[in-house]
Amino acid sequence: MKIRLAAQLQPDSIVDGEGIRTVVWTQGCPHNCPGCHNPGTHDFNGGALVDVEDIIAELKTIQNQDGITLSGGDPVCQSEACSVIAKAAHNMGLNVWCYTGYTYEKMLQNPAHRQLLDNIDVLVDGKFILAEKSYDLYFKGSRNQRIIDVKKSLEENKVVLVEKYKEEKDNSNHYEKPSYLFV
Ligand code: SF4
Repeated sequence: MKIRLAAQLQPDSIVDGEGIRTVVWTQGCPHNCPGCHNPGTHDFNGGALVDVEDIIAELKTIQNQDGITLSGGDPVCQSEACSVIAKAAHNMGLNVWCYTGYTYEKMLQNPAHRQLLDNIDVLVDGKFILAEKSYDLYFKGSRNQRIIDVKKSLEENKVVLVEKYKEEKDNSNHYEKPSYLFV
């Protein structure tokens, strides 16, 4: 099975979910959100086709990670390949976050997307909306997006947000350059 990726695996990210994570940058996104941070990942013919087994083999060589993050692009557009990678990551003891422009509710309606939900821990869902952009949010770009505990949501048959990321960051103490710095 192949997956179309926008870039090589990116280990050691601290901004694409909790802890230290390896990001899988998928290629192809249909949502066209104005202000998208990653327009180069939209083209479904862009990037490169890579063997899923090669990605899994490479993941096994990366040390000291808490999890993987499926990002892009929209990973949900390649749900079957992403499910295989997510299952393999779980077998390696890694947790799985996934970013998507679709909503959780929309994903439930599509069998392949629904199967991906079975294989991920946290879903950050919804399009990026420029008017709702904020730097005070944890692990998401705009206020409409939700950081969803997928397992609890499936169990309880309703959207359950990750409690600790409901709050916004306290940015009241802005960084000020210390006077002892010359540059
Ligand atoms: S879903 Fe993400 S990658 Fe796709 S257009 Fe929106 S912000 Fe960009």
